[in-house]
This record gives sequence, structure tokens and C-alpha cells, in this order.
Amino acid sequence: TKRPTEKQYVMAIDQGTTSTRAVIFDHSGTPVGAAQREHEQIFPQAGWVEHDALEIWRNTRDMISLALSEASVNRHSLAGVGITNQRETTVVWDRHTGKPIYNAVVWQDTRTQAICDELAGDAGPERFKDRTGLPLATYFAGPKIRWILDNVDGARERAENGDLLFGTMDTWVVWNLTGGPDGGVHITDVTNASRTLLMNIDTLDWNEEICAEVGVPVSMLPEIRTSSEIYGYGSRESLLIDTPLSGVLGDQHAATFGQACYEPGQGKNTYGTGNFMLMNTGEDIVRSENGLLTTVAYQLGGKKPIYALEGSIAVTGSLIQWLRDNLGLISSAQEVESKAKKVEDNGGAYIVPAFSGLFAPHWRPDARGVIVGLTRYVNQNHLCRAALESVAYQSAEVVQSMGADASDELTELKVDGGMVVNETLMQFQADVLGVDVVRPKVIETTALGAAYAAGLAVGFWESTEEVAANWAEDTRWSPQIDAAAREQLLHQWSKAVEKSFDWVE
Ligand code: ADP
Repeated sequence: TKRPTEKQYVMAIDQGTTSTRAVIFDHSGTPVGAAQREHEQIFPQAGWVEHDALEIWRNTRDMISLALSEASVNRHSLAGVGITNQRETTVVWDRHTGKPIYNAVVWQDTRTQAICDELAGDAGPERFKDRTGLPLATYFAGPKIRWILDNVDGARERAENGDLLFGTMDTWVVWNLTGGPDGGVHITDVTNASRTLLMNIDTLDWNEEICAEVGVPVSMLPEIRTSSEIYGYGSRESLLIDTPLSGVLGDQHAATFGQACYEPGQGKNTYGTGNFMLMNTGEDIVRSENGLLTTVAYQLGGKKPIYALEGSIAVTGSLIQWLRDNLGLISSAQEVESKAKKVEDNGGAYIVPAFSGLFAPHWRPDARGVIVGLTRYVNQNHLCRAALESVAYQSAEVVQSMGADASDELTELKVDGGMVVNETLMQFQADVLGVDVVRPKVIETTALGAAYAAGLAVGFWESTEEVAANWAEDTRWSPQIDAAAREQLLHQWSKAVEKSFDWVE
């Protein structure tokens, strides 16, 4: 190959909801060293979720250094660095000091419901959907910026004076890596910008009219760039001195990229804190009529943007955390599977984990969690099983919407994320979908996708065809129940979902 021999690796920084990772990949897409650290989840009141952005920045620096030493690699061997991130999570900071003016408001946080209702007015929550691809929902960044400017003393005035900057975590990490107050580059990529409710989905620039209505000064927004180009270089203090920062993708977009979904009709489902299914729709902007979002899948420097339909589910892996931390039903996430395996089925119980309302395909902020179908027979093993099943049912609903919106039939589902080690869940997913579920060898697809974006920008990889050849199948699960049984299960699930509606007035 043409790449300089000393540049043998690419680093990906994955700034996720629960932790920050740094992973170093070689040219075959194999991880050669990694480091990971969790950060604090701050719950100031019901429905609020925050992170300390400075803690995240410290963890990022530490993970860069740890991953380099884990892999016995120094920065001179890195061809480029890619950044992927929890999407929508919003931080506003002072451009002169680098200090956030408030904790980062996390994507799961529902404090902006009143702002969203007010913006929706009589026109309804689909008001900005044509222009942005998104319904008005607490999930997205724009209303979170507005909340911070409205609720932190003097913030609006400082923002209007040009003293404050907004970023999602990609922007925050890149700004800090490139020097922070001392010349930091203030950018985001099209995928992250597409989650703000402030970007035109067709022209990929900020919509000044919507910004004005939401109450966000355009001057505090980062410059929107492609997902794969050189944005800047690591600063003297960053441990990545002179190393090109050359890829940015939101985490779900990165996983789609890492799963090599480069053709229309190809898609993946990621099972993490929440579940996120994305399906490539090529250069077409498909507008969903079935509760899905229209988003940018990725844009490589100098090329046209590639779009996707997305089904976002707020609570899947975090339901397992809730069984562990709030109920004490299990002592580790793995234990949910050993308990679920002790029973044949859910014993008639269904859990609908509508902790922050329901996202796709329902978009019901008024929903709250329910457990239904309880009898004297149901025990904790059934509840563990019902929790795993809820993950599969919610994904099945999204797949149905994809089928209704897109012209391409799903023939198999590529999966990744922390929960796909759970084979009971994977088998049940195949059962309720009626198509094969396929797990690749490298399940770190999020980090891998960011590495690919960064490596393509600097010629470490030549083309998406070249990286697609790295994708390799590990395990495949095929459906083991018939169509009638599948329909009956999905029918019961739909009844359970309806029970969760109309809880919050
Ligand atoms: P994220 O990137 O969103 O932080 P991960 O992809 O690391 O999340 O996945 C972590 C999630 O997976 C956690 O919510 C955890 O509860 C869940 N999880 C981890 N192991 C298992 C398991 N064996 N069975 C079910 N869920 C699991």
C-alpha cells in the first residue's frame, strides 16, 4: 500500500453516554490497544440527566495516554484520530476560560418538554420535521441550549456578546484537543449537527429562522464540516501533538459506518444504553411516515452526503442497569441472562420501559414505564426474561416502520453494542423479527467507524470498498418460531405499550 510505513495505526476516541474509550486500530481494522473509563451520571431530579464536561475531558486525555501505552504505540505511529460521541448531549462553555457554564445536559434528559410544547404550539411537534428531519422532542440539542441560556444567570447576554460556545461532545473534545481557549477549532460534523433541530437536512447548514425561534444565537454554533477531513491537529498539551484530527461521526452513525453499511438498504442495530437502528437510504432524503427520523448517515470530504432513516429507542441496556441498581434483582448485567434462561418464557409478563416517554416509533412524552400481565405465578426470572424481550420487541417495532418507509426489504439485521453478548436476547430478536440476526467479529463498531472516517481522510485507507472487505461475520441467529406465534407475541406487546400511554398529563 501507499501509506507511509511508520504510520501504522489510527486512534478512535469514543466519548459515550456511560464511558469514554480510546481504541487503536491497525490497517486490518483490528484493535491493538484500548482504554476505557466511566464517568459520573448526575440525576439532580426525576427526568434530569447531566454529565460533568470537564470530567469527560480529563477522562479523554487519560484514555488517549492509556490506550497508547496499552498498544505500545506512540503518537508518531498514528495516521489520524477519529472522534465519535454520544449524540445530542449539550455543553455550553466560555470561549475565554474553557469552563462550562453548566453541566452537560444529556440526550435522555426530559427537562425541555415545556420548551418543546411551547415551540410546537398549534402547529404540533412535527413543525420543523420537513426542514430538519426531526420531530420536536426533548431528545435533541437545540431546546437544551435554549434551556441553559434561559436558566444560567447572565448566559443569554454572554452568548449574544459572543463569549459562549455550544457543542455536542465531538465539538467539546475537538476544541479541547486543538488548544481550547488557545486557538481551539470550533467544529462539528454533519451527523452531529443533524441532531440539533437547528440544521437544514437538505443544505446541511444552520437554519437561521429556526435558531431564532428556538432562541439560539447562531454565533455560538460550531462550523459544520464533513465527517471525514482534517479539522485540525492536536495541540502541544494534548498528547497528540501535530496528529491530524480527521474524522467525526455521532456514535450511531459511526457504528453504521463501522458495520460497512455503505449501500442503500443496508442497516444495523446497536444495543447499548438505548437501541438505535439506522438504515442507509443513499443520496435520497426519505421522510418517514412511521415515526422514524431522517438523519445524515455520513459525508466523506468532497463527496455528497449519504442519508439514513433512524429508529431511536431510549431505554434498552439502561433497563438492565435499572434491574441491577434500582431493584437489586441482579448483581451484574450478565446475570439477567442466567436468570432469564431458567424459564421457558416471560410467564405472561411484559415490561415497557418508558422511563423518558417512548421514542421511536411512538414519540409519546406522556408515556411512563409499566409492568403488565402479573399473576401470582410470575417470578424474578420471568421479569428478567421480560426485560430482555422488551429490547427485542422495541427493535421489532422499529424494523416494521423501516419496512413501511423504505423501499428495500430487510433481509438480515447486523447487530453490535454492549448487549449483543447476550445470546438469549439475540435468539429472541431473530424470533420476533423473522429474519436472521448477524453479529460481526469486531463488535467495537462505533470506534471502528470513527477510525475508518479518520483513516480515509488521510489516505490510510483508500476507499469504503477497502474497509468493507474487513467486515467479517462471527455468529448468526435464525428465527425458530413460526409466523403465527410471532404475530401473537407482537400483539401482546402492542397491548402492553398502550398501557404505558397517557400517564403524564
Ligand atoms: P453505551 O455505549 O450506550 O454506553 P454499551 O454499548 O457499552 O453502552 O452497552 C452497555 C449496556 O449493555 C449497559 O446498559 C448494560 O446494562 C448492557 N449489558 C451489558 N452486558 C449485558 C448482558 N450480558 N446482558 C444484557 N445487557 C447487558
